[in-house]
Amino acid sequence: MHGLVRPFVTNRYFSASYRNRSTIRQITFKMAARCLFNTVPRVLKSTRVFAVNSRSLTALPETLQTTVELPEAHQILQKTLHEFSDKELAPRASKADRDQAYPAEQVKAMADLGLLKVMVPEEYGGSGLDSLACAIAMEEISRGCASCGTIFSVMNSLYIASILEFGTKDQIKEFVGKFSKTSDVGCFALSEPDNGSDAGAASTTAHLDGDTWVLNGSKAWISNGSVAKAGVVLATTDKSMKHKGIGAFIVPMPIAGLTVGKNEDKLGIRASPTNTLHFDNVKIPKDHILGEPGMGFKIAMQTLDGGRIGCAAQGVGIAQAAFDWAVQYALQRKAFGKPISNFQTIQLKIADMQIRLDTARLLTYRAAKLKDAGRPFTKEVAMAKVYASEAATFVSHQAIQILGGMGYVKDMPVERFYRDARITEIYEGTSEIQRLVIAGCVLKEFAQK
Ligand SMILES: Cc1cc2nc3c(=O)[nH]c(=O)nc-3n(C[C@H](O)[C@H](O)[C@H](O)COP(=O)(O)OP(=O)(O)OC[C@H]3O[C@@H](n4cnc5c(N)ncnc54)[C@H](O)[C@@H]3O)c2cc1C
Repeated sequence: MHGLVRPFVTNRYFSASYRNRSTIRQITFKMAARCLFNTVPRVLKSTRVFAVNSRSLTALPETLQTTVELPEAHQILQKTLHEFSDKELAPRASKADRDQAYPAEQVKAMADLGLLKVMVPEEYGGSGLDSLACAIAMEEISRGCASCGTIFSVMNSLYIASILEFGTKDQIKEFVGKFSKTSDVGCFALSEPDNGSDAGAASTTAHLDGDTWVLNGSKAWISNGSVAKAGVVLATTDKSMKHKGIGAFIVPMPIAGLTVGKNEDKLGIRASPTNTLHFDNVKIPKDHILGEPGMGFKIAMQTLDGGRIGCAAQGVGIAQAAFDWAVQYALQRKAFGKPISNFQTIQLKIADMQIRLDTARLLTYRAAKLKDAGRPFTKEVAMAKVYASEAATFVSHQAIQILGGMGYVKDMPVERFYRDARITEIYEGTSEIQRLVIAGCVLKEFAQK
């Protein structure tokens, strides 16, 4: 089946405000019912017991997701993926983290749902959803398994998004369409060993040799690097032009001259592979460039704006997971003869966690909705990324505190949430760089008044 998501939430639905809305709503409900009650087995909410060695934490609560009124189709998507995440991703996340193993089965399950091509138009075999849907999907996936979230986001928001936005029809057909029936993923290679935040200083080079681009240099920290079947690679074609001399190239992988470094041994998102890519005279056809030489920096910056919605949504998902465990634990754990949730110091933590979680989600959805409306969202997405990533760290930190000793051991997932949360403050632009972006936008707005 190509896509649980695709059949019931289509482009047609999103443009339905001006025609045939009730019919589509009916179809949507039918499809949703099928998805929710047949295809995705229901989660046994009241009886589920999380066995944790000899200790157990009973019945995680149904997470309260809808902090804003989402369109119907998005609500259905959210519910479906909520159950998918609980059933397919969360139970396997600890082992994948411990083993630092690529979660191939989970990625296949995501592919079967149409999640690996979530925003790809249907004509190219995708699910044809919008950025808000993608953010909701990222949130739910990351709530279950943040490593899967990273694999999902790099594929959708970086690799595919850059080709969809800047590629030719032939490039889209070849490098997006061909992934349609498989669980193959792509990567996006911007950072280098010597330049991360300063992305315009790329030292990887590309020069034309007849009808061939020849790439040399190294890209560092590349998510999906060891498993990718293709990558969008930023390389300089004219060093003298600085960031205006960078191009974006589509490189099929594996390919002669490309060596993939070891999987980095990371603090968090350990099941998501991160590698250095070494290019030694890697040759690709002349037409494997996105847009024109010199457009690469613009392509990277614009793509990263979209990608940051994913980072923010990942923060929301991790924070939600940590929050759910913490509140449930506080209700059950007794100290001094009563549940610790009775103590005001614990209640204050719960309140602060809830405030940050909801604020993070609202900022994230706002950024996604602005993007879907075709309006500028650079400032808003930087705000969402900074806030949601720091909220994820805060909430998971507080969750460990609420669990006490149980928060500090791997029997419970809460320590993993804390480790996973940290990356959201670093990749796709650190919090420091995001604050520079926000301030730059604000100052520009005021200067124009
Ligand atoms: C797990 C993981 C996965 C990643 N995946 C990818 C990927 O798929 N593709 C990709 O291209 N990259 C990826 N990255 C790279 C990531 O985007 C960079 O690590 C990040 O942008 C920061 O760059 P850096 O590590 O070189 O840090 P640096 O740029 O060296 O920064 C170090 C510190 O200095 C601060 N700093 C730098 N410049 C300024 C400034 N002007 N003002 C104030 N503070 C500043 C930073 O905020 C940071 O705190 C990944 C990284 C990790 C760890």
